[in-house]
Amino acid sequence: MANQLVWFRNDLRTCDHAPLSEALVAAHQQNSTITAAFIWSPEQLQQQGAGSPKLAAYQQALDALNDDLAALGVELQIITAPSWQQGVTDLIELCVRLDVDNIYCHYEPGWDERLRDGQFHDQAPEQMHLHRANDLYSAPPRQLLTLQGNFYKVFTPYKRNLLAQIIDTLVAPRPAPDNGLPAQAAKPLALGERFVWDNPMQLPVLEQQAHERLEDFMDQMNDYSSLRDIPARAGTSLLSTSLALGTLSSRQVLWTIAQRQALTSSNAFLSEILWREFYKYLLAWRPELCLGKAFNPKWDQFPWQTDPSLLQRWQAGQTGVPLVDAAARQLNQTGWMHNRLRMVSAMYLVKILQVDWRHGEAWFARQLADFDFAANNGGWQWVASTGVDATPYFRIFNPHEQSRRFDPDGDFIRKYVPELAPLANKAIHQPTPELALALGYPLPVVDYKTSRADTLVKFKKLGQDY
Ligand code: FAD
Repeated sequence: MANQLVWFRNDLRTCDHAPLSEALVAAHQQNSTITAAFIWSPEQLQQQGAGSPKLAAYQQALDALNDDLAALGVELQIITAPSWQQGVTDLIELCVRLDVDNIYCHYEPGWDERLRDGQFHDQAPEQMHLHRANDLYSAPPRQLLTLQGNFYKVFTPYKRNLLAQIIDTLVAPRPAPDNGLPAQAAKPLALGERFVWDNPMQLPVLEQQAHERLEDFMDQMNDYSSLRDIPARAGTSLLSTSLALGTLSSRQVLWTIAQRQALTSSNAFLSEILWREFYKYLLAWRPELCLGKAFNPKWDQFPWQTDPSLLQRWQAGQTGVPLVDAAARQLNQTGWMHNRLRMVSAMYLVKILQVDWRHGEAWFARQLADFDFAANNGGWQWVASTGVDATPYFRIFNPHEQSRRFDPDGDFIRKYVPELAPLANKAIHQPTPELALALGYPLPVVDYKTSRADTLVKFKKLGQDY
């Protein structure tokens, strides 16, 4: 009798994991064995942009998954390979060796992920079946269409339709399976070089941590809309790393919310979870977004600045704009950046320093523990006005005004730009050149007003030429 294998991907959990549950049922019914596998290719992940924080988070999540699967009597095999291509070849070999005919996994929409599955189909022996559960979304992307039969390019109607579909159909997440197999002692995983990330903000990474954080956050959810934009306050869920690794599923979040209140579009936290789904949904329809293309090619001819020092100063938190620098330093020190600051700092890079958004996208990918291609690309294209339902090109956040509004007492700036700590609240958002020089803080890298006006002229001209 042929055996079963669960192929883990960005879904490093045991609860709400349809492929794992299905494979366990099949193993039980057919009295066959079950193994789990994960293709570990740090080289490939790095090529896709991920850096140490994300790679370290993967390793931590895999170690915990290894323990959790061992408790279920399932061994996790790590296939270390320099590329996914090699990893798929090795996975097929493993399946042949273990007499596995049924491989269970989640369907993932990205470009490389499709190529990877295509390669599996091409290479695997005929009797080997890949069972792909289309279960990473609240509703399958093909099911969500406009009245004209197109995919949605605007978030609000997408959200309305999605909520209408799931309100009555949302099912409880599957609990961790209980299959009656004897627990095994977990064998240490061979994950090679250990990547370093200190996680000073103690972001939840592991499945258990994510569950606990989600429960705790539910007590705060009603304050989310008033606190979520204040970077000095702990007003957001911090669940992004768990969601990106799949140690938590969006269904688990939606279900947990639904146990407390109706799923309505006025729930700001719910909306953000659905933004995440929207960007993944777009990837299902437009996988070529993974190839560095603007969703709206109209703005691709923007004459970007090429001076590398602009990008370097932004990355290092040395632009001379306090909130933008505090944001950069939070990212570099913690592997995470507050959402309001992601918007402010990305917009400053693209629309004031006029640096191509793809450079910023790559930097965020390398520094973020929660790096998720769809959310990152969606966020950058939103800011750059090149994306779907993006902000209009003439909308440019003034970083000094944003600072006065969202960090009124300068607490966040003082924490991450300590050289400015002595300044009074009034001066801290935009120090005068005299104060900046006295405190050893850089002068602004460009003049904000001049640069803003220049950007608008360039965008306008492009819009007319197109
Ligand atoms: P909460 O405010 O508690 O939100 C709950 C969850 O909703 C988040 O964990 C996240 O999964 C999702 N979410 C929230 N806001 C967004 C959004 N705007 N778009 C998509 N999903 C969202 N998020 C990532 O997970 N990975 C990224 O690589 C990423 N890059 C970004 C780049 C830019 C330029 C911008 C503007 C946003 C980016 N975001 C990214 C979205 C957002 O900033 C983070 O998800 C959020 O700050 C994470 O903190 P949290 O978990 O406390 O969020």
